[in-house]
Amino acid sequence: AVVIHRKMKKSGKWVKAMEIVKEFEESCRTPISKLKQVADAMTVEMHAGLASEGGSKLKMLITYVDSLPTGNEKGLFYALDLGGTNFRVLRVLLGGKDGGILKQQFKEVSIPPNKMTGSSAELFDYIAAELAKFVAQEEDDFKPTSGRLRELGFTFSFPVMQTSIASGTLLRWTKGFSIDETVGQDVVAELTKALERQGLEMRVSALVNDTVGTLAGGKYANNDVVVSVILGTGSNAAYVERAQAIPKWHGLLPKSGEMVINMEWGNFRSSHLPLTEYDQALDAESLNPGEQIYEKVISGMYLGEIFRRVLCRMAEEAFFGDVVPPKLKEPFILGTPVMSAMHHDTSPDLKVVANNLKDILEISNTSLKMRKVIVQFCDIVATRGARLSAAGLLGILKKMGRDTIKEGEKQKTVIAMDGGLYEHYEEYRNSLENCLKELLGEEVCKTIKIEHSNDGSGIGAALLAASHSQYLEDES
Ligand code: BGC
Ligand code: MG
Repeated sequence: AVVIHRKMKKSGKWVKAMEIVKEFEESCRTPISKLKQVADAMTVEMHAGLASEGGSKLKMLITYVDSLPTGNEKGLFYALDLGGTNFRVLRVLLGGKDGGILKQQFKEVSIPPNKMTGSSAELFDYIAAELAKFVAQEEDDFKPTSGRLRELGFTFSFPVMQTSIASGTLLRWTKGFSIDETVGQDVVAELTKALERQGLEMRVSALVNDTVGTLAGGKYANNDVVVSVILGTGSNAAYVERAQAIPKWHGLLPKSGEMVINMEWGNFRSSHLPLTEYDQALDAESLNPGEQIYEKVISGMYLGEIFRRVLCRMAEEAFFGDVVPPKLKEPFILGTPVMSAMHHDTSPDLKVVANNLKDILEISNTSLKMRKVIVQFCDIVATRGARLSAAGLLGILKKMGRDTIKEGEKQKTVIAMDGGLYEHYEEYRNSLENCLKELLGEEVCKTIKIEHSNDGSGIGAALLAASHSQYLEDES
């Protein structure tokens, strides 16, 4: 009798488990028709965000970058890149016309999590101190011209309302950051004060979002770059807009006739987004409920967490035995890199999956059948994210009129892409690229290229610091 009871319990467990898988798969579906609706909604919101301040969930922020690097940038510049899990400091020596990047050095430092939610001064003091250490290591042949102040491009990867190329107030934090007192403050002033406390004299010449830095760095490497996308901890895009097409811009028309727009697409939302109960719960329990909804389904900070939530639901149905494994209840215990490792497990017995379950979640004794289900969850979550980001990209291409081929025109569109998710999660990257091809069609797709810009955002910020240098007059 006991054996029969066990068997029934077991088969009942499977039936329920399969039901959950099916339901989840169904609610995450992203057929092309739906993706086209998402793309159209993105285009509509872009127009609305450009029309008036607050006109859309898409902030479509004016960046004060009205010209991208030309190759003439020259001299020694610093950059500081703050935004995800790490921050980077770098110095580059730019060679001017045809010189390119003559020399560069950088240092990457991880940000202690407690600094992301503490006080403003603590965070800025920490980065200023790291920058000061880096500056102190300047070699003799890698110093600014004597008598000149060091200049810095500050890549700050959060929504900022800019008031000039080198100032702007923080609209709100995103990702893992949450420090109330910084909101509404000029982040350049905050940094400058912290630099002063370190006794480091430096001028912030450009304040840029990472997408804008990536766009600038991308353009320097390839003249056809007009869009940039970050798929990392968070997600966002920037592109070159015609100044005439920005009704909310009341300033002078720039000479170039163009203005780079930081979309802040992470905050996009639409009834067409396939959201599940797990997404809703994740959002409700996040640091920023109701915000960054698109980011929460496509970016690296959240994919692993969605995956964990689905596994938790399975565990409640006794998928892993009679009790829910305690580790599985810990928010963010499954990072996207781990999920990616499981997803890419090619061993016949899914050893990588088994080992990660054991090491991170203390779950052992899973059957191969169970592990296959687990990989299927990774696939559902990653595929949905990748395809939705492809749809967002199509929305931008539409807005730019680059989703079709105009007769007689040989226009090339290059998208500078960066971020750990794109770089390291192969299934995600492939799924995004295949989906974009599917959306655009073979012919148009030949005119569009995604280029991985490896940490272009730092170089881009240094380039923009160079083109906004206070010593520019002296050069020409
Ligand atoms: C921020 C953007 C940033 C993106 C990628 C988002 O959470 O709001 O400003 O560009 O992450 O780092
Ligand atoms: Mg970054």
